[in-house]
Amino acid sequence: MKLKSINPHDQSVVGEIEISSRQEVKEVVKKAKEAFLQWKDLSVTERVDYIRRFREKVDENKEKIAKLMTLEMGKPLQQSLDEVDGELKFLDYYIEKGPEYLSDEVVLEKDKERFRMTYEPYGVCACIAPWNFPLSMAVSGVIPALIAGNTVILKPSEHSSLSQKMVIDLLRESGVPDGAVNYLIGGGEIGKLLIDEPINLLWFTGSTKIGQEIYEKCGKKFIKPLLEMGGSSPGIIFADADLNSTMDSLYWARFLNCGQVCTSVKRLFVEEPIYEKVIKLFVDRIKNTKVGDPMDKDTDIGPLVSRKQLKKLEEQVTDAVSKGAKVEIGGKKPKGEQFKKGNYFEPTILTDVNLNMRVLTEEVFGPVLPIMPFKTEKEAIDLANNTEYGLSAEVYTSDLERGERIARQIQAGTVAINTDDFFKPDCPFGGYKKSGMGKEYGEIGMKEFSQIKVIAVVKH
Ligand code: NAD
Repeated sequence: MKLKSINPHDQSVVGEIEISSRQEVKEVVKKAKEAFLQWKDLSVTERVDYIRRFREKVDENKEKIAKLMTLEMGKPLQQSLDEVDGELKFLDYYIEKGPEYLSDEVVLEKDKERFRMTYEPYGVCACIAPWNFPLSMAVSGVIPALIAGNTVILKPSEHSSLSQKMVIDLLRESGVPDGAVNYLIGGGEIGKLLIDEPINLLWFTGSTKIGQEIYEKCGKKFIKPLLEMGGSSPGIIFADADLNSTMDSLYWARFLNCGQVCTSVKRLFVEEPIYEKVIKLFVDRIKNTKVGDPMDKDTDIGPLVSRKQLKKLEEQVTDAVSKGAKVEIGGKKPKGEQFKKGNYFEPTILTDVNLNMRVLTEEVFGPVLPIMPFKTEKEAIDLANNTEYGLSAEVYTSDLERGERIARQIQAGTVAINTDDFFKPDCPFGGYKKSGMGKEYGEIGMKEFSQIKVIAVVKH
């Protein structure tokens, strides 16, 4: 049976690809286990050499990858090109730092004793990815897992199978042995079958609901899960913030990729004296936003990835309105022939919101921003922490001491002060609470894919 990749702009078929069978899942895992025996014995430097060639191939295929991502999941083309450029920087980091971070380390040397740490791979690492950053999400699991000496099976999202499969194709073209990098095609059912096989490590990025299900399974099998899950990141603006830069930052923090980013600011809290002003600035900015075909160079916001996501977003907005929320702008599907077939939703600002509304209790994965006023610093922190998620937060103030003070009280893996630009290869990233477990990126993130052995030697 074939999986159809559907263009969210007009529901046309971008391409088809065979769904993996139950038997194939078993065979691929067996192949990855066999390949592990050779792959693990290469030095980190040898493995990184393959990744260097892969980086060149990603660079050479930049336009092709970007176009395919846009066709499959609807991200404006310029944002897809930016994603590829951003990923090249992450690849540079893995290539430079991999050999350094995964080399043996002497941790104790005294008299006749010499204790050394070595980083060893787990075995077969299953990587189950979402669709919202097709290239970046595949690379974040697959590449550090490979550098650490694991063999890898990528299960792309059913909404970005073609572009994520390309990552494996390019790795193979770079010379990585076939069994060391593999893919399986299909939706959740293939992900489930993969986890049931004797894999040794699991990297998952996706929703909290599925992440929790996977966590339970990993517990039963007693394998380590690395989980990057959903978020409902708060933004807090104080009256002393520089509103020009703040508004620009927060506009992208909410509307980049049609609001389908794990770390998007999904709840905004504004200090009372500037509450009305911030609403007006958002509404004015949205009036100048171009919603449309993501293949057009000047489009700011494209369609949502799927009909299912659009329906969920519409239900969340209807719930808010039925409980008294005011729609300042947007709130519905845009009018016009060009939007008819696509999964479009207008960029939306909601006010008069309260904590019983789904837009404040659930993750809102689309271009909708609820805004609430606050009076005191404590109230802002309480509102920010009033969620089961803890991925990231953004605080805007010119008082950096206050920013730091708040950052320490917010329950999240990253708290950014006066910026939304915090994805850096050097910085460990990962959630508190139900936003995840384990870190990616940085030295800590790279080491997550290895198990540590201590070799203790005493000379007699
Ligand atoms: P999803 O959980 O629906 O799917 C993620 C992946 O899991 C897909 O490949 C899917 O096919 C697979 N899957 C589904 N059910 C499964 C099951 N029962 N067993 C095994 N695999 C299964 O998420 P999505 O819609 O693809 O992605 C959006 C979500 O991802 C959002 O919640 C977003 O916040 C989150 N996300 C988090 C991060 C992060 O770094 N924390 C990054 C990107 C996206």
